[in-house]
Amino acid sequence: PSLVYERVRRRLYMDAEEMWFFVSGQIKQLQKKAQTTAPHLMPLLNKILQEGVEHKRSLLKDVDRLSEVDGYADWRLKEAVELSDLVQRRLIHLQNPENCEKSKKLLCNLNKGCGYGCQLHHAVYCLLVAYGTQRTLILRSKGWRYNRAGWEQVFRPVSDTCTDFTGHVHNWPGHPDSEVILLGIVDSVSPRPPYLPLAVPKDLAERISRLHGDPSVWWVGQFLKYLLRPQPNTVNMLKDAASKFNFQRPIVGVHIRRTDKVGTEAAFHPVDEYMEHVEEYYKQLDLSKQVTTKRIYLASDDYKVFAEIKNKYPDYEILGDPQIAKTAAVSTRYSDGALNGLIQDLYFLSQSDYLVCTFSSQVCRVAYEIMQSLHPDASTRFRSLDDIYYYGGQGIHRKVAIMSHRPKSSDEMDLAVGDIVGVAGNHWDGYSKGRNLRTNQVALYPSFKVDDVVEAVDFPTYTQVPL
Ligand code: GDP
Repeated sequence: PSLVYERVRRRLYMDAEEMWFFVSGQIKQLQKKAQTTAPHLMPLLNKILQEGVEHKRSLLKDVDRLSEVDGYADWRLKEAVELSDLVQRRLIHLQNPENCEKSKKLLCNLNKGCGYGCQLHHAVYCLLVAYGTQRTLILRSKGWRYNRAGWEQVFRPVSDTCTDFTGHVHNWPGHPDSEVILLGIVDSVSPRPPYLPLAVPKDLAERISRLHGDPSVWWVGQFLKYLLRPQPNTVNMLKDAASKFNFQRPIVGVHIRRTDKVGTEAAFHPVDEYMEHVEEYYKQLDLSKQVTTKRIYLASDDYKVFAEIKNKYPDYEILGDPQIAKTAAVSTRYSDGALNGLIQDLYFLSQSDYLVCTFSSQVCRVAYEIMQSLHPDASTRFRSLDDIYYYGGQGIHRKVAIMSHRPKSSDEMDLAVGDIVGVAGNHWDGYSKGRNLRTNQVALYPSFKVDDVVEAVDFPTYTQVPL
């Protein structure tokens, strides 16, 4: 398929979703007013919501059908495998140089002072910079807060042949002939490497854009795929868990982040808000196949949500382990004994067909990123209750206006075709907030009037690795 065709197909899906965000959002506002001032309108407004959502589901189903019947389904599967294989072979090449002693190295300490999701993102950032600078990554993990014996006990070492170094260690950015460069955390890195998300490598940008609706997430997902190659004991642990839980599809992964996050970095969301989106997923699915069991995989750092969902939603099969949630809550401060639970939760969340969570949590973003390496394009398989996807430390998230917009109130943006907007968030009501880089105005604009900008950046092209 042409790049244009794939883009139009994805836009159709997004257009349908955004239209319903807008219409349902407006009707809900109207309902609030009508309740007191015009109660006789309530039945009509309810009818619009109830029947309108059926129109939306039908639209989404047909757009999905399009990708099944357009004749490109096999191509997408094949291209996903080949592209991933290419990136993985490049990483293997980078990480296993012929002459380890002579090869240039990038040194990172895994133990960033934060949670597991945050630490995984730190490791991905290190590997991205290693790939960008063609330096073999040395990941130091002795004394790791999630496993004192180190990363290699649970995941395969980032290199099979080159795990140590001699020579002088320079701090980032060092210079091209520095033997070893120590890279600090992204929060204070200076100068900023050009390889940080949302960048994708120029030599693969077109292929990734054709395959995937959100190229930067796909790219990050490939780095996690490499990093998280499990050791045999980890494989066994996950196999045992899968049979204990009787993991089956369809299944929706639900991640509810509470405890220390709420009120500091994120707002509280009741379980019903998560479950509303799960319900919607199953109603949508029911149009294309018969759903006999509604199933969720539940992960949280608040064990109480297990009982609450069980009581309120007796028609659901709930997989997951409240015991893991109990250790998780404690582990945000002392992390011993929490690692297996975390590996399990992330694994099953990413294996789910759809994710409902808050993207303000790195746990859920990691699950979403891993999910991208398990499907040709899983970029729409989520519903975040708060943020849009982002990567901590990322550059500005640019969108380009493809339609103009005349503001109808002072909080709306003036938008001309071609304007670049730095997006801050989607309000999931038809509008997104951002800064127009032409006018510097920070305001709301209709989300459907912009397209993503693919940040294609010059990376080494690894010509030694066959395409
Ligand atoms: P964030 O704080 O949610 O952005 O993500 P981090 O991963 O940086 O830190 C949160 C930490 O809380 C995790 O690393 C876990 O230790 C714990 N945690 C949060 N949610 C879960 C969950 O669903 N399952 C498990 N096992 N642990 C969790």
